[in-house]
Amino acid sequence: MNKKIILKEVKAILFGVAVGDALGVPVEFKSRQAISKNPVTDMIGYGTHNLPAGTWSDDSSLTFCLAEALTQEFNLNNIGQNFVRWYQENYWTPHGNVFDIGIATREAISRLEDGEKPELAGGFEDSDNGNGSLMRILPLVFYLLDKPIKERFDITKKVSSITHGHFRSVIACFYYLEFALQILAGKDKFEIYQNLQTEISNHLTSLTINPAEIAIFDRLLKGKLAKLDEDEIQSSGYVLHTLEASIWCLLTTDNYKEAVLKAVNLGSDTDTTGAVTGGLAGLLYGLDNIPKRWITQLARKEDIENLAERLFEKIVSR
Ligand SMILES: [Mg+2]
Repeated sequence: MNKKIILKEVKAILFGVAVGDALGVPVEFKSRQAISKNPVTDMIGYGTHNLPAGTWSDDSSLTFCLAEALTQEFNLNNIGQNFVRWYQENYWTPHGNVFDIGIATREAISRLEDGEKPELAGGFEDSDNGNGSLMRILPLVFYLLDKPIKERFDITKKVSSITHGHFRSVIACFYYLEFALQILAGKDKFEIYQNLQTEISNHLTSLTINPAEIAIFDRLLKGKLAKLDEDEIQSSGYVLHTLEASIWCLLTTDNYKEAVLKAVNLGSDTDTTGAVTGGLAGLLYGLDNIPKRWITQLARKEDIENLAERLFEKIVSR
């Protein structure tokens, strides 16, 4: 894609993810039914993890670890080592400690510490398809911009596989990044949804992927997701649920605030559904559409801003 990235787009992704994440942290694990009695309408503190308002979680930490690695030359090892630093040394944590981590990510980090190659560190089983690579993958879009689709898929596969190596997680990350790329190209969200049905389906059928695995994505690749009712959308920690819920929230709302609040109020894995929705919504509606007070409330706001600036410098120098 022949596209000049602007600083605001880099900030929109990093703040978009972190604000969505932080909105969900205080109500993580709450059921949809419980949340519906007292829906989230603003950035609140405490709750599930008893942390102050504006605290983001592992989703944003690992997103920042990836973004940080992308401020240097692309190197899979550096990305993996940043994840290790996060878990071992509290690197890119909001208040100096790790307060949550997914099972698959923890196991992958332990394999990295044992010297496993990053592209082989993530699990490959059906049961290894939590949303842990999807929630941290978005900054990679800036590295994929000028690459052909085959390369975009291969790079996405490698970066997902540091923690999540199963094709389902890889396809979910690929779909999400392709959506982001087309937002950057200035396309309308409904047009993107249609485009991806052809583009992603064609690419996946050209690979040696079990057709049954591709069919798992039918609601995105064949169906009319935006027409589904809320009770047909699930919001657990399963990667397919998170991806579907996020695209559904994006397609059924008109601004950043509505999109992320809808995502968080789906309940269950609220921070990740919020983060994954927030990244795309930030990019789609722009940095200025993210409520300023929510950005101001974020832990380490200046550090995130500085990271966005350094990532932007790297993108324009490439
Ligand atoms: Mg989290």
